[in-house]
Amino acid sequence: TGRGEDVNSTAKVENLFLSIPNGKSALETSRSYATHPHLAGSEEDFEDAKVILKLFQEQFGISAPSEVPVFPAGSPESRSSTLNINKLSKPTAWIDKYYPVMNTGKEVGLEILGDDGDTVWTADLVEDGDPRDPEAAKYKDAIPAWHGLSADGVAEGEVIYVNYGNKEDYDNLVSAGTNLTGKIVLARYGTTFRGLKIEGAQTHGAIGVLIYSDPRDDGLVTVENGYEPYPAGPARNPTAVQRGSVQFLSKYPGDPTTPGYPAYENATRTEGENIPKIPSIPISWANAQKILAEIGDSTASRQLTGVASSRKVRLTNRVDTKVIPIWNTMAVIPGHIKNETVILGCHRDAWVMGAADPTSGTVSLTEVIRGYGALLKSGWRPLRNILIASWDAEEYGLIGSTEWGEDFADWIQQSAVAYINVDVSVAGSAFTASGSPSLAHLIRKTAKEVPHPTDPNRSLWDSSKDKGPFTKGVADAEFMAFYEATERQRAAFTGVPPLGSGSDYTVFLQRLGVASMDQGFGGTPTDAVYHYHSIYDSQHWQEVYADPTFERHAAVAKNIGLLGLRLADSIILPLNTTHYALELDTYLDRVEGLTSSPFSKLRKSIQKLQKASTELDAEKVEAEKKFKELIDKIRRRKSHGCHKSILRRIFRWVKIGLEIENFPERKFIKAAKRVQKANAKLIAFERGFISEGGIKDREWYKHLGVAPGKWLGYGATTLPGLTEALTIDRNVTLAHEEAKRLTTLLHKLTKSLKD
Ligand code: GLU
Ligand code: CA
Ligand code: ZN
Ligand code: ZN
Repeated sequence: TGRGEDVNSTAKVENLFLSIPNGKSALETSRSYATHPHLAGSEEDFEDAKVILKLFQEQFGISAPSEVPVFPAGSPESRSSTLNINKLSKPTAWIDKYYPVMNTGKEVGLEILGDDGDTVWTADLVEDGDPRDPEAAKYKDAIPAWHGLSADGVAEGEVIYVNYGNKEDYDNLVSAGTNLTGKIVLARYGTTFRGLKIEGAQTHGAIGVLIYSDPRDDGLVTVENGYEPYPAGPARNPTAVQRGSVQFLSKYPGDPTTPGYPAYENATRTEGENIPKIPSIPISWANAQKILAEIGDSTASRQLTGVASSRKVRLTNRVDTKVIPIWNTMAVIPGHIKNETVILGCHRDAWVMGAADPTSGTVSLTEVIRGYGALLKSGWRPLRNILIASWDAEEYGLIGSTEWGEDFADWIQQSAVAYINVDVSVAGSAFTASGSPSLAHLIRKTAKEVPHPTDPNRSLWDSSKDKGPFTKGVADAEFMAFYEATERQRAAFTGVPPLGSGSDYTVFLQRLGVASMDQGFGGTPTDAVYHYHSIYDSQHWQEVYADPTFERHAAVAKNIGLLGLRLADSIILPLNTTHYALELDTYLDRVEGLTSSPFSKLRKSIQKLQKASTELDAEKVEAEKKFKELIDKIRRRKSHGCHKSILRRIFRWVKIGLEIENFPERKFIKAAKRVQKANAKLIAFERGFISEGGIKDREWYKHLGVAPGKWLGYGATTLPGLTEALTIDRNVTLAHEEAKRLTTLLHKLTKSLKD
C-alpha cells in the first residue's frame, strides 16, 4: 500500500543515514582538528572555518566559488545568504563574519609578598606539558592560561577562601561577618559558572579572584585512590589550568558591547555591562596549595572560615581587549516546505586544542554532515530546510551563535522548528541529554534505537548508566554512594532535564523561544579526569581514555542525525507539547514548596493549557491521517506519482498561494493546510513562553519557563522570574506579580492553540 511505501522510504532514508557515521572516520577528523590550538579569532580558527566550508561543499554537492564566500555580518551578501534560504533550490554554504569585543592574555602573574612588600614566591603559571602527551608538550605555552573577557589589572591584597564562590558560600561568609572588601578571593571551580563567582566577589567588594581546580571535585579517580596523574595515569595533572570565559552570563551572553543586537563592524557599542571590573586568573591545584598554606589552611580541610592570609598576594592580569573578528560557517539544505527550518550547530573554537571541547562535537557533526551528504547523493530532499552551523567564539560567551541569533531574530522566530546543539560529545562514558520538554520523548526514542557504542545488546540510551573503568582502591559501597549522588542530580521524569546555559542553544531557547536540545557523553566519578579547557584536553587523552575506538563520537552523530531527520521529514512535527504542559505542573509544585501561599490562578491556567494541548494532539493525528489518505489516493490514481514529489507540489501550492479556486484538487490543499496549521501550533508552543518584557533585571532572557539560574549559569531554573522572586528577592508580593505575568502568557498560548 501507499502507507507501506511511505514507511519504507522513511526507513530507507534513516538506514542509509545510520550506515555512514563510524569510529574510524571520526578518529581521523578528530586528529585533524585536535592536534593544533584554534582559539576564536585566530588564524587557525579561520583555517578550520574554511575546512568546514569545504566539507559542506563536498558533501552537499556545492560548487566552490572562485572566492571564499566570507561575508561581513550586516552586508547584503550576509543577509541574503540567510534570508533567502526560503528561495533556495540547491544546498548552499558560506561564512558569516562578526565583530565582537574579546580579549587575549598578555601576562598573568601570581606572587606572594613578604612583610616588606618584596616578592617571596612567584607562581609558574604554565602547564607542565609532559612529553608523554605529544600535543600538550608541543603547545604547552601556546595559549596563556587567562580568563576570557576578564578585566585588565593588578590586585594586591590578603586572600580569603570562598569555597565554590556560589551564592550559598557568599551568603554564609557574609552572615558569619566576613568582610571581603579589598580582599582577593580564592574559589574552587564547580557548581556554578565561573563568571558568576567573580560577579559575586565583585558585588561583595573583593578586588581580585583566583579560581583553581580542586581534586576533591575529580570524583574517585585521584592520587589518594592510587592513580597516577595524567599523562602517566588517569588522575588530575596538578599543573592543569582551566581557562574560560568570566562573562556575567546570567545578565546576557554574546558580544559584551552589543547586547540584544548584532556585532556588525560599525555597530554602536556599549561599555559592556556583562563583564567583570576586577581582575581574575585561573590557577592549578599545585599553585592553589601554596596559597591555601598562606591562609593557614592545612590543604586537607579547606573550610569556609573567613580567615584571611597573613601575607598579601599580587595577582597580575594583563589582557588586550579589542574587536576581534570571528567566523561562523553555515550551510543549508533546502526542503520542500520553505518556511520551516531545523537548525543543528556546534562551536568550533577551543581554548587550546579542545579534543573534547568542542572537537568531539565538531567530529560528531562532521559525521552527520557526511550522512546527510550520502542521502543527498541518493536523491533525498528533506521536507523542511536544514541549516547547519559551526559557531565561533562560543568560549568567550556563546558569541557566534548569539550574534547570529540576534541578527536574524525575526527570521528564526518565523522559521525555526527546533535547534539541535552538540558541544562536548565525548568526555567520559555516560550519555546524557537535556532539552525542551516537548523534545524529551523524541530524544529518548531515538537514543533507544541507536546502538550502544560498544555493546551490541544495548542502546545509546542505556549508556546513560555506564560507569568509568577506574574503580581501583574504592570500596563498593563508597563507589555506589558517590555514583548514586551524581546520578540523582540528573534524574528527571523522562531522564531529559531542562537546559540551563553554557552552550550555543541559549539564544535559540531562552531569547527566541525555539525548542532546543543538547547531548553528549560526560564523565562519571570513575572516569579518567577530564582536564577541561586545559592543554590536556588533547587528542592523546581522547584516544587513551575517553573514546579509544571513537565509537562514542559516532553514536552521538547517529542520534543527532536521526533527530534532525525526524524533525525535518515527519509530516506532523514530533513535538510533544502535552508533556511540556504537564511538566509545568511539576515546575509549579517546586515553586509552591517554597512558600505557604499557593498560586491557584497560575495552576488553573496550566490545566487549561494541558486541555488545549490534548485537543491539539487529537487534531494532529486527524490531520496527518487525512493528509496521508489523500496522498495514497493520488498515488493510486497517478501510477507513477512519487510520494515526495506530490508532497512538494502540495506544499508549494499552498505556500505560494496559487489561486486555490482554480486548482482542481482543493481537497489536497485543504489537507495540507490543516497539517501546516497543526505544525504551526506545535512550533508556537515554545514561542509562547517568550515575554517581550523579559526576566526582571536581566531582560535579554525572555523565556519565562526556563533560564540559566541567576547564580547558577550552567544550571536551569524553571519558572525563573517566579522562582527567583522567592529564592533570591524573597519577596512574596513580587512572586505573585510574576505568577500573574505567567498566567497571562499561558492564557495567550492556550488561546492560540485553540484558534
Ligand atoms: N561553554 C563555555 C564555558 O562554559 C562558555 C559558556 C559561556 O560563556 O556562556 O566556559
Ligand atoms: Ca550582540
Ligand atoms: Zn564547548
Ligand atoms: Zn568550553
